[in-house]
Amino acid sequence: MSARVAGLATLTIDQIRTGLRARQFSAVEVAQSALEFAQAENPKTNAYLHFSPERALAAAERADRKVAAGEDPGTLAGVPVAVKDVIVTRGLRTTCGSRLLERYIPPYDATAVVRLEQAGAMIIGKANCDEFAMGSSTENSAFGPVKNPVALDRVPGGSSGGSAAAVAQGTAVVALGSDTGGSIRQPASFCGVVGVTPTYGRVSRYGLVAFASSLDHIGPFSRTVRDSALVLHSIAGRDECDSTSAFAPVPDYLAELDGRVAGLKIGVPREYFEGLTSESGDLIHKGIDVLKKLGCQVRDISLPATKYAVACYYIIATAEASSNLARYDGVRYTTRAASDTLSDMYRSTRGEGFGAECKRRIMLGTYVLSHGYYDAYYLKAQRVRALIAQDFKNAFAEVDAIVAPVSPFPAFKLGEKLDDPLEMYLSDIYTITGDLAGIPCMSVPCGKTAAGLPVGMQILTRHFDETGMFRLADAFEKAGGFTG
Ligand code: GLN
Repeated sequence: MSARVAGLATLTIDQIRTGLRARQFSAVEVAQSALEFAQAENPKTNAYLHFSPERALAAAERADRKVAAGEDPGTLAGVPVAVKDVIVTRGLRTTCGSRLLERYIPPYDATAVVRLEQAGAMIIGKANCDEFAMGSSTENSAFGPVKNPVALDRVPGGSSGGSAAAVAQGTAVVALGSDTGGSIRQPASFCGVVGVTPTYGRVSRYGLVAFASSLDHIGPFSRTVRDSALVLHSIAGRDECDSTSAFAPVPDYLAELDGRVAGLKIGVPREYFEGLTSESGDLIHKGIDVLKKLGCQVRDISLPATKYAVACYYIIATAEASSNLARYDGVRYTTRAASDTLSDMYRSTRGEGFGAECKRRIMLGTYVLSHGYYDAYYLKAQRVRALIAQDFKNAFAEVDAIVAPVSPFPAFKLGEKLDDPLEMYLSDIYTITGDLAGIPCMSVPCGKTAAGLPVGMQILTRHFDETGMFRLADAFEKAGGFTG
């Protein structure tokens, strides 16, 4: 590591900007240090699937030229970023953690990636993940599991486990992940970093390989709330290439990190505390005490449809996944398995290419959409989804934010839940509701268990109120001192 770029593992976006301006180091030096460090650390965690030195160095040189010319190099200039490998990058392999896309080189960049680079960011590599973002432990990657940098015998959470691990390990300052049912917040909680799922439509999904289109979100990971706010500000906003991206103006999140949280009404949903391990529960209660000390008014609320969330999610998500994954047929994108007939070619390409979890989801999804079952399952699940969204709407008539656990338990051991998909699905019991309702939600570190395992606290706010969410999380982080 370059001697001039000390403390890369703990640098923040602001510190990089200050360092560049003061000529303490150049963006090229940061890129080189980050790549060197990430490559040296990767054998421990398998957080990255591949690195992109040329691309990172090209971005670094652009930033350095601007600094030398006295121009503004951009908010994210010189910032090393890891991008989950379900987000496409032009000319840079994008595998979705799947054998099927092992050699897929996308011809275009996702909008979030374009915007990151426009803001000066340096993409140093693609982060490992569960195959097609299906999973809660990153053990479903065709390229081997990711290990949690905090405890190497444990999972980092999933499906964006590589992105969370990279930020926790300090090999990237920030990372992009995707969240369909909890895949940003749950790994953030397990690895002790900040993870943000913005409002549905806040960030363009163009170039995010689709899992369940009505639930998919792109969002940031970082070590501080402020850094996530900076990244979200750079990537958010309407995009012509995604008709579901929102026209809502993107506020200056940073200007709102003013600590003014006294008097805020916070709802604590009682349904989210059933089935929680006592250690995780205690930490969340301590976190809530911190909010009280900051002057928030905490009250008990009820979100009664929560009990249907897991069932509802696994019907809607698998239905959409079965349709989205139909495109991997051996004709487009993928490696083609040798066969004599067309149907054999489909069968063997998909049979050899998809891992067990994807096949399980395709079968479940095809079943719930099939003639005769559609009304009983899919249509019903859509109605339940409306009830879950209505619960939040009712709650937000009375409170400004909701605070809850992220996951019923901290990071579990590698292999511990692999043989029991239902048990694995319960990892997301507290996160899938936010995705089903499409509201902004995030995980912010809330201390560690006696064994040193991080626990995240979840904050949820009204549609498009990322501002309120960041303000509360930032005040909490500063008061609790739980990061770092
Ligand atoms: N763990 C959930 C699932 O397996 C969520 C995945 C995600 O958010 N991408 O579907």
